[in-house]
Amino acid sequence: MAKQRMLQFVTVGRETPEKRDASVRAQDFNEIYREFAIPKAEEQAGRCSQCGVPYCQSHCPLHNNIPDWLRLTAEGRLQEAYEIAQSTNTFPEICGRICPQDRLCEGNCVIEQSGHGTVTIGSVEKFVTDTAWDMGWVKPIRPHSERTESVGIIGAGPGGLAAADFLRRKGVQVTIYDRYDRAGGLMTYGIPGFKLEKDVVMNRIKQLEDGGVQFVLNCTVGEDLSFDAIRGKHDAVVIATGVYKTRDLMGPGSGAEGIVRAIDYLTVSNRKSFGDEVPEYDSGELNAEGKRVVVIGGGDTAMDCVRTAIRQGAVSVKCLYRRDRANMPGSQREVANAEEEGVEFVWLAAPKGFTASGAVEGVMVQRMRLGAPDATGRQSPELIEGADYVEEADLVIKALGFEPEDIPGLWNVPELEVTRWGTIKADFRTHATSLPGVYAVGDIVRGASLVVWAIRDGREAAEAILTYLGQPVAAVAAE
Ligand SMILES: Cc1cc2nc3c(=O)[nH]c(=O)nc-3n(C[C@H](O)[C@H](O)[C@H](O)COP(=O)(O)OP(=O)(O)OC[C@H]3O[C@@H](n4cnc5c(N)ncnc54)[C@H](O)[C@@H]3O)c2cc1C
Ligand code: SF4
Repeated sequence: MAKQRMLQFVTVGRETPEKRDASVRAQDFNEIYREFAIPKAEEQAGRCSQCGVPYCQSHCPLHNNIPDWLRLTAEGRLQEAYEIAQSTNTFPEICGRICPQDRLCEGNCVIEQSGHGTVTIGSVEKFVTDTAWDMGWVKPIRPHSERTESVGIIGAGPGGLAAADFLRRKGVQVTIYDRYDRAGGLMTYGIPGFKLEKDVVMNRIKQLEDGGVQFVLNCTVGEDLSFDAIRGKHDAVVIATGVYKTRDLMGPGSGAEGIVRAIDYLTVSNRKSFGDEVPEYDSGELNAEGKRVVVIGGGDTAMDCVRTAIRQGAVSVKCLYRRDRANMPGSQREVANAEEEGVEFVWLAAPKGFTASGAVEGVMVQRMRLGAPDATGRQSPELIEGADYVEEADLVIKALGFEPEDIPGLWNVPELEVTRWGTIKADFRTHATSLPGVYAVGDIVRGASLVVWAIRDGREAAEAILTYLGQPVAAVAAE
């Protein structure tokens, strides 16, 4: 695995299939590591001009100390670079892989803005941290002293895990409850393995377990265990449940077989990559092999679906989006990757229903044009009369975004205040909710967002909880 990752670094400046093939042909790990990977990392890191106005850092949600770890990498001081990278980030190797860097750190690199191509900050972050794992520099958490107070965290996604990491380092007892059988949230069951290898996520979870974080899995709060019971058991609680209610499509034929939700499709695909028994995949229900696939939506989830379908051996993969390329919410880098892999984008196309005879046979498409910009500045799509047609399909994947579940209703806790969008109301700095001692982080507060923002929330909530708990009541020396 180390070899695989190292090879990926060598090719990751801007990946192309040719570069990926070349990486597969490469043979000797040590040779590649010495001759290519380290020099490549040093060369990239050395391109940082140490400009003194680190826009990269201010546009990283974690305010990672990017110039410092780039400088250390350029000097070959990888362990020190790793120490700095991980001091602000629970999952540097994960962010290095999946942050939309073009919108964050790299998009604001002054070298990029002067037209010379960004320093590939994410790739260096990933390389440095992967090297740290391979070299044994990543250690289990060992707090200086143990505290008696405990914090219960509901949701084992990046928000909950980051809070757990920071609290555990201060000796707080931490238990994480999650309804799934594996921790990691969308990092485990949402984001596909070709973007984020699952062993990378599992290594971090094991590190937390080894550091004393307790995981209670297969436990749906509100069903298997009440929210009140968790509050009664812990000194503080963090809600980090993410957003999972799928925006739906109505219209004729919308209940036909073969029209599926993106989250179900991706979860099944990820389960398969863990080697699980997955009847929905084996039966073909949630498997694109040999099918004409149409994905509806223009965000990153849609991009993950189209790219997964290609890998599963779909006959054709089309992505329908009601605006044009310039107005789509997903990362342009992801669109380029998908196009390169053979996905066809049908811009300015909105579904109005489905043709089906039991199973879906096609999507009834309305052609659109862009009108005047709305209040947000985005041009609104307008219908072109008489231009409808049917896009043939055997599998239709709905990737229209996610909304929060009704947490106060499901958990019988009406005092927990939510916004008009149903997200939990929390202080933007401390993440405290309307309930004393209860904090909320990640997508359940922000709406569908990013891993790096969930990590930031988790870190900030942990700091606020430490203040709330006060000085350690009965500190005991750690072993
Ligand atoms: C397909 C897809 C691709 C994405 N790709 C990227 C990407 O490339 N880069 C990026 O930065 N972000 C990406 N994101 C967004 C990112 O995954 C989320 O913003 C992030 O995971 C949110 O973290 P979280 O901790 O708030 O919630 P989640 O990761 O959603 O974790 C929430 C956890 O809470 C658990 N839970 C929910 N309800 C209960 C309950 N009642 N009881 C017990 N447990 C419960 C869930 O099982 C889950 O494990 C993607 C999202 C999707 C859907
Ligand atoms: S965490 Fe994300 S935004 Fe911050 S430096 Fe790393 S890749 Fe860039």
